[in-house]
Amino acid sequence: MAEFTMELNDDQKQVRDWIHGFAADVIRPAAAEWDEREETPWPVIQEAAKVGIYSLDFYAQQFFDPTGLGVPMAMEELFWGDAGIALSIVGTGLAAIGVLANGTEEQIGTWIPQMYGTPDDVKVAAFCSSEPDAGSDVGAMRTRAVYDQAKDEWVLNGTKTWATNGGIANVHIVVAVVDAELGTKGHASFIVPPGTPGLSQGQKFKKHGIRASHTAEVVLEDVRVPGSCLLGGKDKLDERLARAREKAAAGGERVKNAAMATFEASRPAVGAMAVGTARAAYEVALDYAKTRTQFGRPIIDNQGVAFQLADMRTQIDAARLLVWRASWMAVAGKPFTSAEGSMSKLYASEVAKKVTAQAVQILGGNGYTREYPVERMHRDSAIYTIFEGTSEIQRLVIARTLAEMPIR
Ligand SMILES: Cc1cc2nc3c(=O)[nH]c(=O)nc-3n(C[C@H](O)[C@H](O)[C@H](O)COP(=O)(O)OP(=O)(O)OC[C@H]3O[C@@H](n4cnc5c(N)ncnc54)[C@H](O)[C@@H]3O)c2cc1C
Repeated sequence: MAEFTMELNDDQKQVRDWIHGFAADVIRPAAAEWDEREETPWPVIQEAAKVGIYSLDFYAQQFFDPTGLGVPMAMEELFWGDAGIALSIVGTGLAAIGVLANGTEEQIGTWIPQMYGTPDDVKVAAFCSSEPDAGSDVGAMRTRAVYDQAKDEWVLNGTKTWATNGGIANVHIVVAVVDAELGTKGHASFIVPPGTPGLSQGQKFKKHGIRASHTAEVVLEDVRVPGSCLLGGKDKLDERLARAREKAAAGGERVKNAAMATFEASRPAVGAMAVGTARAAYEVALDYAKTRTQFGRPIIDNQGVAFQLADMRTQIDAARLLVWRASWMAVAGKPFTSAEGSMSKLYASEVAKKVTAQAVQILGGNGYTREYPVERMHRDSAIYTIFEGTSEIQRLVIARTLAEMPIR
């Protein structure tokens, strides 16, 4: 039996240091500029592609790390560099994972390379689920996918919103309703290939934070995609729908565990992003507190400042441990009987908001200006309690899981 250890192995340390180097040398110096420009940092993505950080291989290697720590470690380091740029780099991975997890071999081989492009001609991908009236309540989704049997094509109509890379993506993954009677069980995902007529970008949002990451509406008007673009294929969908109909006819499924394994496995990655931003702000605050002198001594000599830093560091470490536990559980196939993935995302995202606010406070007037990065980090941190399920939704999932109650 393997010995219990909390230490990263040598390979992991090497990868972590490599990503950290890229975050420190390439991402961090570019952060303020792309935050101000509010544009996708294509040159930085290209740099990441050249060194191998923007690629499916990189993502897959971290994903298949048998300890589960590959993905959280990579996320923490990239988001330590800058959240907006890091999201521009990993946004494609979030769409690619959907294809990797549910697609056929042919779909994986055809579409994932087109999501990334090449280092000389980088592309991005988008995952479009949220809609104006269906955010937390995914069951309220209205985008429809209708099968045209004669042509073996699916026809998509609807409006998606808040899609990271929406409209600028080479490949869009779109979730749509195929059987409205079945609620979320009647949803399916579709690959929309580059240049498909009928897909257009709606409003591009001007945001509070992560401004280097492109967020926009995606409008779908009679978008026709070949039958081969249904993720997983038609047979699998038909089987899944038949099972769902049977269960619905039998009066529904008895819920033993409200936490959904896929979300429990993906949410720790968002928790790790939050840990990265929190750690970045903490480090700036610690350094500042040691060097800023008031009343003839460094401000860290005041217990009021030092205790804040002690709490910040403690909470960041606690958040990381929750993230690592959930990430390990996902690869070890442990059931999330207490929604441990949601727990890690909830705690880490709340810690990031709190710690970055404390960092602004510790830097005083400087913390409030764009001369120092904590102002940006504080704005960026607000996203973590919103996307991939708000904090309230995480609490709802945890509570319902503990109570063995259905989520909806
Ligand atoms: C920058 C950014 C990037 C995003 N990227 C993507 C993306 O790439 N793809 C994608 O599909 N989506 C994306 N999203 C959408 C994101 O996942 C949603 O914003 C999120 O799920 C919340 O939905 P909502 O904004 O509609 O809020 P709502 O669901 O309207 O919630 C509003 C408030 O009500 C609370 N609330 C709602 N229901 C309950 C309840 N039952 N109990 C208690 N409180 C409740 C919420 O917690 C929240 O505080 C992104 C969003 C942003 C801002």
